[in-house]
Formats: sequence, C-alpha cells, structure tokens
Amino acid sequence: MSETRGKKGARSDDARTERLRSLAAVDEVMREPGVEELLARYPRPLVVDAVRAVLERLRSDILAGGDAAGVQAADLAPAQLVPWVARLLEAAVRPSLRRVINATGVVVHTNLGRALLPPEAVDAVVTAAAGYTDLEYSLSRGERASRQDHVHDVLCSVTGADDALVVNNNAAAVLLALAATARGGEVLVARGQLVEIGDGFRIPDILRESGADLVEVGTTNRTYLRDFEAAWTERTRAILRVHTSNYRIVGFTAEPTLDELATLAHGRGAVLVDDLGSGAMAALELFAEEPALADSIAAGCDVVTFSGDKLLGGPQAGIAVGKVEAVQAMRRHPLARALRIDKLDLAALDAVLRLYLDPQRAEAQIPTLRALRTPLEDVRARAEALRASLVGAGVPPEALELVDTVGRAGAGALPVTEVPSVAVAASVPSGEAGARAALLRAGSPAVVCRVQDDRLLFDVRAVADGEIEELAGAALVALV
Ligand SMILES: *Cc1c(COP(=O)(O)O)cnc(C)c1O
Repeated sequence: MSETRGKKGARSDDARTERLRSLAAVDEVMREPGVEELLARYPRPLVVDAVRAVLERLRSDILAGGDAAGVQAADLAPAQLVPWVARLLEAAVRPSLRRVINATGVVVHTNLGRALLPPEAVDAVVTAAAGYTDLEYSLSRGERASRQDHVHDVLCSVTGADDALVVNNNAAAVLLALAATARGGEVLVARGQLVEIGDGFRIPDILRESGADLVEVGTTNRTYLRDFEAAWTERTRAILRVHTSNYRIVGFTAEPTLDELATLAHGRGAVLVDDLGSGAMAALELFAEEPALADSIAAGCDVVTFSGDKLLGGPQAGIAVGKVEAVQAMRRHPLARALRIDKLDLAALDAVLRLYLDPQRAEAQIPTLRALRTPLEDVRARAEALRASLVGAGVPPEALELVDTVGRAGAGALPVTEVPSVAVAASVPSGEAGARAALLRAGSPAVVCRVQDDRLLFDVRAVADGEIEELAGAALVALV
C-alpha cells in the first residue's frame, strides 16, 4: 500500500520537475513578438514585473499539483504566456476602486464605502478637485485663512454648539479631544462603554494613544454617578461617554445621565467628552434609538464627536462640536495638523451641512436618509420592477420570488433597529449560489448581494430607483 503510494508520488514528482523545467525564463518571454508590442504601450519595468508574476504564478501552481490547475506543457510555451501578461498589465493600470451595486440591504455599508453623497456634494467635490479654491484663503481680505472657516458657522448653527472643528474621521476626533483635554491625566469611562467599533478601533487603544490613562468605572451593565465620584483623583481630567453604537446592553442596566456627568466634571474642573458615533442629525423615526446630538449639547458636554459618513450621510469626516475652550484646545493641539480633513471631504461636508439648514431638504436630498426612510411599499415596488426586468430578459418567472427581508442602517449604527426591506430571491442550481455570487462580484458594475441556501437575494433597500435596470442587466450573468 505504502509502496504504491510511494511510486505514484515519485511519478508525479517527475512530472512536476519536468514541467518546472519547461517553464520559460523571464528573458525568453521578453523576446516574444507579442511582448515587444506590449513594450510599446507599457514601461519596461512594468512588463518585466508582469512576466515575472505570470511565471511565479505558474511555478506555484505546478508545485501545488499542476495537473489540477490544467497546466499542460504546451501551455507553458513563451508565446502562450503573452495574453496572461497582457491581462495583468491591463489590470495593473486600471484604477482598483470599482463601482458596486449594493444589493445587501445594508444602507451605510462600511466595506462598500458608507454614505453616498448628494448631487450638491458631488458637484462641490468635483469643483474642489479640478481647480483651485479658496480652501485656506480669504478672498475678501486677500490673505491666509483656515479651512475650518468653510464649515464652522454652519456646524454651529445646525448643532446649536458654540464652537466646531472637523478632522479626518471620528476616530481622529476622539483621539484629538482626549489628547487636547486629558494628556498626562486620567480619563474615566464606564466599563460597559469600552467598546470596539469595528476593524480594531477600540476605545481603550485610542485613549492610550492620546497620552491619557484610562480608568474604568462601574460594572459592565451598571454604573452609577457614585462610581465616578469614587474613582476621582487629582489626576482626573475628563469623563468620556461613548455611545455603544454597535451593540446594546439590555436588561438590568444603569448609567448616569449626561447632565449628572457634566455637573460632576465641571464642578471638579474636568471636561465631559461625548463620542456619539453616528451623530444622527435628521429627525427620522428610525433614529429614535440614537442619542440626540441636541441632548448632548444641551447637557453641556465640552466636546461631542461624530462621524461624517454614518447617519449624517456625508463624506468621511470627524466632527467635534462643543464649548469654545475645549474645541480651541483641540484646534491648537499639534496633532490637529496630522489629523486634518482633506479638501475633497471638506468640500463635500460643506455642501451636506448646508442641506441640514433645511431639514426637509436634507431628508429629501441625502441618499442615506432617503434610502432609510423610503416607505416599504416603495421598496416593494422597486423589487417588483427588478423582477419584471429580469423576467423580461428571459429569467423564468418561477425562479424569482419577492421576499420580505430585514435590512440594516449599517456602520454599526442602530444595531437592534430592523429596517424592513424586500428582496428578489433568485433560485440557482443547487450548490452553485456561491459561485454565481462570485460571478456577480466580478461584473462591471460589480453586484454584491446576499446568499441564502440555493438563492441569491437582491435586497433593494439600498439600490436607487435609477439603478434597477442596470442591476437587472448585471444580475443576468448569474441567472441564465
Ligand atoms: C464609528 C464610530 C467611531 C469611529 O468613527 P469613524 O468615523 O469610522 O472613524 C468612533 N466611535 C463610535 C462610538 C463609533 O460608532
């Protein structure tokens, strides 16, 4: 038995060695006429890299058992490798970021780029990207100004805060707030709020990087004001309240109100920092569960931070609003320069915030808000349109069913709020759903949908009406 296996092993080793030996050298492939043509279009080092990559890939395929990969000796001839090299080169010069139709039902999908910008913001980005702007220049005075000037007043007016500062993202806003107010001191945080937000963003880590020491207060489910009082030392500089955006502690719970925390902090010369996470500013019914920004301001928080690209529906940004003294300390902190918002995001944020001056306009224009507040019957009509379009293109009607689904706001926001939605469920041959979904992801535009048993679910909550025809066209490859 073992001997047979030994012989067989030896035979396939021979075949492998033979194949490895017949693999061309880089120079040989470079001399192919087809490669000469490629050299007219691409820089030589890029072509050499592509040739190397193809040979490397073949070598590892052969070593891994080349029979399975279907690599025949004839396939290894230098001329046969040219099309592979050409494909690699095409892919190398094409931008990597690709458009995706989001058929997952998750509206603010972090992996798919979170919020989509309203047209006003897209225009602002294009203007700022294509030409010079008064980014850090006062056109009236003809001298240097701050990029913050463009959003400061509108932020104060839509949030009701005294002062405002924007940075690169909310993680940066929290870091800067703590570095500016508590470096070298202690920060009190309720134990139940020491959260990980996703992709390794952990509040304790941010705190450490800010140069402040974390002091955990209370228990996981219950924390009282007296716990904060008991933990207080002469090094205490701040209380940090973190909205546990992506999970809920339910049942036997307690935590002090923001008013109580503010009174305690201010009475002892410390600050209260409130990390809201999403910072939902629109008055959508769906957002009832989110802490209201206005409450944090009214309670007298020194700094309130939130993301630009979660439920606000804007670009990536970290927004810090609050009292002048604390926000000014952030503005002057050396880290502010390292964490500053870039001009394209600033342009988009500027435009999005203007929409919030008229809340109805914000709800109507901002794609994230629109997607979340679309009535279920409209979502169902959209699903019906998708189904009709697929049937029109030849997919058998019996393979397509409308099903009720549960969508999500996404980005960790509203973790227990279900957003009712509708999907077109398309049956595919047994065991093939994964491969069909992969085919959709390889399309242009790519489609990301849900897979459930032997069905592909196209949830249309986060699909725009104008994308339905395109989605139908892109979905066809997986359904016929
Ligand atoms: C999402 C979130 C963050 C991080 O925000 P980014 O804008 O992604 O950097 C921080 N804190 C809370 C509570 C969050 O929900």
